Amino acid sequence: MFAVPSPEQKTDVQVGSLLGQGTGARRPIGVIGGVMEVIPTADILASAYLALEYVDSLVPPIPQQELVRSAWNYMLDNYTKFQIATWGSVFLHELIYVSVCLLFFLSQFLPFMQKYKIQQDKPETWEAQLKCLKMLALSHFFVQIPLICGAYHFVEFFGIPYDWESMPRWPYLVLQCYSCAVMDDTWFYFTHRLLHHRRIYRHIHKVHHEFTAPFGMQAEYAHPVETVVLGAGFLIGPMVFRSHLALLWIWLLFRLLETVDIHSGYNPPVNPMHIIPFYAGTEFHDFHHMNFEGNYASCFIWWDRIFSTNLQYKDFQHKRGKEKEQ
Ligand SMILES: [Zn+2]
Ligand SMILES: [Zn+2]
Repeated sequence: MFAVPSPEQKTDVQVGSLLGQGTGARRPIGVIGGVMEVIPTADILASAYLALEYVDSLVPPIPQQELVRSAWNYMLDNYTKFQIATWGSVFLHELIYVSVCLLFFLSQFLPFMQKYKIQQDKPETWEAQLKCLKMLALSHFFVQIPLICGAYHFVEFFGIPYDWESMPRWPYLVLQCYSCAVMDDTWFYFTHRLLHHRRIYRHIHKVHHEFTAPFGMQAEYAHPVETVVLGAGFLIGPMVFRSHLALLWIWLLFRLLETVDIHSGYNPPVNPMHIIPFYAGTEFHDFHHMNFEGNYASCFIWWDRIFSTNLQYKDFQHKRGKEKEQ
C-alpha cells in the first residue's frame, strides 16, 4: 500500500508534474513521503499520482530537445517579453498563414491535384483570388495585426509564463492544444449559427460567403466584426490553461493549419490533419460554403451531429455516393 502525502508534503514538484510542467528537466520518479493513516480513496489517489509520475518518466523528449531549448533561451536572453509576445506572435501568424495559403494556391497548377478538387465545376479564378488578396492585405494590416499586437497584454494579464522550465512536456501541450480546439469549436459553432441568422447574415457573415467554392486564402476573408467575434474563441483555451507562451503559439499554428485546410477546396487522400480524432475535414466546410446552410462547426463533427445540422450534408453525401455507383 502506498502512503498518502500530507498537504505539506505534496510539493510543487508533484503538483507541477500532474500539470505536465517542466519540459526542460526530466524528473525522477518521486517517492511520495510521509506516513499517515491510509484511507481507501486517498490510497487510490496516491496510486494515481505514482502511476502518472511513472507514465511521465516514460515519455520521450521532443526530437532535438537541446537545440530547441537553446533556441528558446536565446530568444529569452535577446528579446524583451513585449517583443517576444507581440512581434513573435505577429511574425508567426503571417509566416504560417502565407506559407500554408501558398501551398494550396499552388495546387491549382498541379495536374495530379485536380482530381481532388471538391467542386469540380468551379475552378479558382484569378479575379476572385486577386480580390481576396487585396482584401486580405487590408484586413491583416488594419484588423488582424493590431489584434495580435494585444498578445503581450493578454499574456501578462493572465500571468502566462515564458521560461523554458515552466514549459509543459509535449504530450500535455498536445492535449491542451486539442482541448483549446474543442473549446474554440464550441464557441465557433454557436456564434457561426448566430451569424447566419437572417437579420444578421447580410450585415456581417455574407462577406465570408462571397465565394461559394472556397480556396485556401479565403480562410480569413471576413468582415472585421466576424474576425473579432469568431476570433474570440481562440483565446478561451489559453485563458483556461494559462499554461505557457508555447501553447499559445502551437495552438496558433494548429488553428491556422485547420482553417486554411478546410477552405482549401481540395481533399487529397493523404492529409496529416485527418489523424486528428473527430476532425470534420475539408469536404465538410466546403459543403457549408456551397450550401450556405448546415455544417456550422469548423473543426469537429459532434456539434452538427448533436443538433442535426449535418442532415443536408449527409443527404448530399448519400446522393453523390449513389451517382458514383452508377
Ligand atoms: Zn457560414
Ligand atoms: Zn468558411
